Amino acid sequence: MSRAKIIRNNPHESFICLSCGSAVSPLKNGGNQRNHCPKCLSSIHVDIIAGDRRASCHGIMKPISIWVQEDREWSLIHRCRNCGIIRSNRIAADDNEMMLFSLAASFMSQLPFPAGKTLDHIQALSLQKEENHE
Ligand SMILES: [Zn+2]
Ligand SMILES: [Zn+2]
Repeated sequence: MSRAKIIRNNPHESFICLSCGSAVSPLKNGGNQRNHCPKCLSSIHVDIIAGDRRASCHGIMKPISIWVQEDREWSLIHRCRNCGIIRSNRIAADDNEMMLFSLAASFMSQLPFPAGKTLDHIQALSLQKEENHE
């Protein structure tokens, strides 16, 4: 294996985010290799199978959703703007918390049905439950 190839395959190298332009340094305490920008949470479509760097697409993968797994660990759902593929990636310890929060909250502000009635209904149900306890 040539030296150049070793450097290119190093998962702990720094990179410039193609989406927001931030210089991204490797994760401080090792762990998983960085697969998205901690500032804007975007990724690049470079893998066919996670970590293989064999995809030729190289489109920007924007975070579109949060996936909360059974152990309450959060993953980001990324969608490639170029080819539309959807992937999940575990969040990192230094990911932008406000970005994660706004991503999670954005669904509640964009309900595809009138929310007012639904909220009234939920409130009514929660009051009914309290009455049943007494
Ligand atoms: Zn970025
Ligand atoms: Zn793609």
